[in-house]
Amino acid sequence: MRVGIGYDVHPLRAGRDLILGGVPIGHPVGLDGHSDADVLTHAVIDALLGAAGLGDIGTHFPDTDPKWKGANSMLFLEHARKLLDEKHFMIEHVDAVVITEKPKLGPHFPKMREALAKALSVDAEKIHLKAKTNEGVDAIGRGEAIAAHVIATLVSR
Ligand SMILES: [Zn+2]
Repeated sequence: MRVGIGYDVHPLRAGRDLILGGVPIGHPVGLDGHSDADVLTHAVIDALLGAAGLGDIGTHFPDTDPKWKGANSMLFLEHARKLLDEKHFMIEHVDAVVITEKPKLGPHFPKMREALAKALSVDAEKIHLKAKTNEGVDAIGRGEAIAAHVIATLVSR
């Protein structure tokens, strides 16, 4: 059994779409970054790659590569799953915390779990999502950024 940790943060900006776990979330501001800046998906990828000993998202999808500008992060996630397959790792569980003041994410979780599970070819029960606010503290608390922490568990087959 292998365990990996992933963390990511992106700033919120006007004029960007908010995409979390591959799902567009209607919100006045969205996350800024080279790709679609899907902070949750990026943290999931880092947790999976970490557990498999395969580096991190920047190793495989450098943000200096124009090919990834505006890219759909679910493609990164599907690629990470292929890398895990090649190393004969199966995803046992993914547990995530998304930290944001707004919007409320609970209503979006079923869709986000489905989208993540589909990209990873696992049952949605293997993806667990939680949301926290930062109680008004720091940039996340002021609504200037969203962060995600993820732990992934893999088994060798
Ligand atoms: Zn990111």
